[in-house]
Amino acid sequence: MTTKNIPFSKEQLEKIIETHPTPFHIYDEKAMRENARNFVKVFSWNEGFREFYAIKAAPNPYLMKILREEGFGIDCSSVTELEIAKRVGMSGDEIMLTSNDTPASEFQMAKDLGAIINLDDISHIEYLEKNVGLPETICLRYNPGDLKQGNLIIGHPEEAKYGFTHEQMIEGYAMLKEKGVKRFGVHTMVASNELDPDYFIETAEILFKLIIEVYEKTGIKVEFANLGGGIGIPYKPEQKAVNLEYVSAGIRKLYDEMIVGNGLAPLKLYFESGRMITGPYGYLVTTVRHIKNTFKKFAGLDASMANLMRPALYGAYHHITVVGKEKQPLNTMYDVTGSLCENNDKFAIDRMFPELEPGDFVVIHDTGAHGHSMGFNYNGKPRSAELLLRENGEVAQIRRAETIDDLFITLDFDELKDFEV
Ligand SMILES: *Cc1c(COP(=O)(O)O)cnc(C)c1O
Repeated sequence: MTTKNIPFSKEQLEKIIETHPTPFHIYDEKAMRENARNFVKVFSWNEGFREFYAIKAAPNPYLMKILREEGFGIDCSSVTELEIAKRVGMSGDEIMLTSNDTPASEFQMAKDLGAIINLDDISHIEYLEKNVGLPETICLRYNPGDLKQGNLIIGHPEEAKYGFTHEQMIEGYAMLKEKGVKRFGVHTMVASNELDPDYFIETAEILFKLIIEVYEKTGIKVEFANLGGGIGIPYKPEQKAVNLEYVSAGIRKLYDEMIVGNGLAPLKLYFESGRMITGPYGYLVTTVRHIKNTFKKFAGLDASMANLMRPALYGAYHHITVVGKEKQPLNTMYDVTGSLCENNDKFAIDRMFPELEPGDFVVIHDTGAHGHSMGFNYNGKPRSAELLLRENGEVAQIRRAETIDDLFITLDFDELKDFEV
């Protein structure tokens, strides 16, 4: 069971809304820092352990600055994400580029920043060498194929577009060694939003096996193993967070047996989690605009799937709290909707709530990862602001809301006057 609380009272929220109208995402700095610290602590037995925050989950430089202070690196998969790293002041092995179908410009920028480059395909070795030159350190992304079950969101590894096959991994390391690359890493990511802790221990085992084989066949001692992201969070109250202590202990046992036991220590362990780092600490705060009674009861919010796409995209559950009505009986069934001209623009379907009225504040939980970042502008919906609830209780705006002018900025209305039709 996971209790779904919100980190502010109704009075506090009313105060915030006086200066920051709904909808907005708000992040809880204190809880986020505590979680980050715990993650690092649990794996502190491994010297050089590092979590590279998957910045795509919440690409906000203010959040990244906080996480960096907690010792995190950054995991980027585009030029724009590398630019965020740069503007936060990050460089070198604090940055990991894990991208696919990668353009030369992205490799170039990663190399200029001194980032660790994680290659997605064997053909990228020559592409990188030809276009940018090979750096001293290279990581290879492994797709274990049928050696590992994928999960629902990511699907079967064989169907996934990512990574090298087993054979290509061995060939890739041998090739890179011959080309003069000095230091090596291995990476895999085979799950998304996975709550089974054993899954991550099995992933470590697969990588450790590969590391042993790479040493036997090429003489290369891999220096780090990046176990990817994909650690799930309990979106539903009846779900339980992944027990990181259990995961860490399981991996440590394998590390001692397989890595230390084969003379392959030290091996640094990395993660590139996004969801479990910020997901539970973000909230989409909205107001009920209309209550509609037709074939069903609909509660129309001032937010839409443009602010949070997961329910519409994956049928994902996000818990919803009606502020100030937490103690009231859940006696009325609603579809909770946004205002897009898309019938799947719903945050909840057939869910029980207390009786709702226009003006109620409705808080949607677990929007701190893949929330604002997956937003879009369909129907001309400007994206919302992002706020940060500081540890001292103050609220900082860490991204303003978009305006209509922002949406028109790529159009030239002066040219339109002279445009003949
Ligand atoms: C999306 C992604 C992550 C982060 O996934 P989470 O589910 O947010 O932990 C990490 N690495 C890669 C390569 C990804 O594509």
